[in-house]
Amino acid sequence: MKVDLFNYTIERLKEIGVSIDDMAELVMEVQKKYYDDITIEECRHHVLSVLKKREVQHTVITGLELDRLAKEGVVEEPLLSILRRDEPLYGVDEILALGITNVYGTIGLTNFGYLDKVKPGVIAELNNKKREGVHTFADDLVAAIVAAACSRLAHSKRSDFTEEDE
Ligand code: MG
Repeated sequence: MKVDLFNYTIERLKEIGVSIDDMAELVMEVQKKYYDDITIEECRHHVLSVLKKREVQHTVITGLELDRLAKEGVVEEPLLSILRRDEPLYGVDEILALGITNVYGTIGLTNFGYLDKVKPGVIAELNNKKREGVHTFADDLVAAIVAAACSRLAHSKRSDFTEEDE
């Protein structure tokens, strides 16, 4: 069985109610203060480029699967309760998500810190449990994808940037 990881990853995000456009809008929100000429198409392009990276796909599907298993209740205790409560001291959700931002260097890290603190849009909805299910990993993964797309956008404004680079 050959799985198209790119489309599978996008589908898994859709299942938790997060679309490419949701993430593109967050990129736009964060970056428009630095670049007043950016378009939503440009933001969407950078989100998709981040999701094309295999290490990003692997990270996203691993975290979302752990959320799903916790929701189904098939994770053993004590981890099950930790995941369901989204315990602040657990921290593995942030650590996993940093694997995504690290691909794009320190700007990614700064943007991730900002998104984690401000929690705009869909990130807040996931974190506030407004949505059914367990989203312990999901909010950090989405923040990391957005942060990485922001960094990629920033890199793309350099004169020596080529699409193959990043
Ligand atoms: Mg979390």
